Amino acid sequence: MISTNKGFTLIELMIVVVIIGILAAIAIPKFQDVTRSAENAACRSNMRNIITALNMYLMENNQYPGAFEGHVWREISYIDGYARKDFRCPSTNSAYRFRINGDDYNLISIRGWNSSCVRNHGDYRNSVYRP
Ligand SMILES: [Zn+2]
Repeated sequence: MISTNKGFTLIELMIVVVIIGILAAIAIPKFQDVTRSAENAACRSNMRNIITALNMYLMENNQYPGAFEGHVWREISYIDGYARKDFRCPSTNSAYRFRINGDDYNLISIRGWNSSCVRNHGDYRNSVYRP
């Protein structure tokens, strides 16, 4: 009876492990890029939703919330009933705050209440998005 070796040699297994390692080294940074860009988009979308809520408030009340009371940073709960209170930055989990700016109190600033959120996802200052 002839004995045939149907298994893999150690060298063959090591080559497969190295190839898998190389593929993982290429793929993992790409996944991280995709995650980062999705978080960035979600954070910016949250800020745009808050702008929409502030504009709904404006239409119903003829001025922005807290307007003419100074350029104060306010929590989202200040516009309860217009925007979800639980908007959070997807990567830093920080809440957002808004401020009504300008001489006529007609400009909106919004930012995540965390410097890392602002650094990575930008903010709205005087109604302009700054990446
Ligand atoms: Zn953010």
